[in-house]
Amino acid sequence: MTEFRADLHCHSTCSDGTLHPEEIVRLAVDSGLKGLSITDHDSIDAYPLALPLAEELGLEMISGAEFSSIHKDVSVHILAYAFSLESSIIHDFCQRHNQRRESRNRGILALLAKHGMTITEEEIAACTPNNLPHARRTVGRPHIAQAMIRKGYVLSVNEAFKKWLAEGKPCYAQGESFTAEETIDIIHQAKGLAVIAHPHLINHPNTLQDLLKMKFDGIECYYAQFSLQQQKRWLKIAEKQSWLITGGSDFHGDIKPNIALGCSWVPEEIFRKIQKHYIQAQL
Ligand code: AMP
Ligand code: ZN
Ligand code: FE
Ligand code: FE
Repeated sequence: MTEFRADLHCHSTCSDGTLHPEEIVRLAVDSGLKGLSITDHDSIDAYPLALPLAEELGLEMISGAEFSSIHKDVSVHILAYAFSLESSIIHDFCQRHNQRRESRNRGILALLAKHGMTITEEEIAACTPNNLPHARRTVGRPHIAQAMIRKGYVLSVNEAFKKWLAEGKPCYAQGESFTAEETIDIIHQAKGLAVIAHPHLINHPNTLQDLLKMKFDGIECYYAQFSLQQQKRWLKIAEKQSWLITGGSDFHGDIKPNIALGCSWVPEEIFRKIQKHYIQAQL
C-alpha cells in the first residue's frame, strides 16, 4: 500500500496559480496524492471544475479557500476548510472580496502611475490566465507584477514585489479589508474550520501573540519546504492550543517553479478528521 498523502494548500488559475483546476487534479493523481484541497485566494470557483474529475479519478477532496485579512494593519492569510460549498455565506464573502480587490487594484495602479509606471486594468486582465472566463479569476498582485514585466518596468515578479508591491513598499496598498476576527466568524458561520496560514510569514511578533488568542481551529505546521526544526515550532503551538495540524505545498505552478504539488502534505489521520467535519457541514 502506498502512503496516504493529502496536500491541503494550493492555488489554481481561479486565483494566482498557473494550472486550471482540472490540471491540478490530474497532477495530484499523477504525483501519488490521495487527498487534496484547492485553496484559492478569496475564491471557491475551482470546485465545480475540479470535483467531477476528482471523483472520476478517485482523488478525495475537501473544500478550501485562503482568505486575506488584516489584524492591526498587518496582513494575515487565513485558510478555511470543510465549509459547505453550498453555503451562501461563503459565496457572499468571496463576492465581497472580489469587490474589495477591484478597488484595491485601482489603488495600486494609481500608486504605480505616480511612480511613472502606467498600467491599465485591461493590461492586468490580459495577464490573467486565459483558460477560464474573466468572472472566475481572482486578480491580485502577481498579475500586476506580470503586467509590469510586459511593460518593461521590471525584469521579474520578484523584482516587482521587492521594489514596489510587497507590504511596506511604495506601491503597496492594503485597501479596505476584513479583519482576522471577522474572517474567522464568517468561516464558522459557514460551518468551516479557520486555520492560520504559513505562520512563519507573520513577522510581527505581537500579531502572532494576538492570533493565538483568537478562535482559530488550526495552524499550518507543514508548509512548502519547511525544515523539521521550523515544523517543530508550529507543532508545539498546535499541541498547546489543542488546534488541528494542517499542511500543504502552497503550489502556484510556474510562477513558483521550485514548489511542487505535494512537497508538503498531511497524513491520512489528519485528512480524515477534517473530512469528517466537511461531511457534517453538508448535512
Ligand atoms: P495579493 O493576494 O494580491 O495580496 O497577492 C498575494 C500573493 O502574491 C501571494 O499569495 C503570493 O503568491 C504572491 N507574493 C507575495 N509576496 C511575493 C514576493 N515577494 N514575490 C513573489 N510573489 C509574492
Ligand atoms: Zn498566491
Ligand atoms: Fe498565503
Ligand atoms: Fe497560498
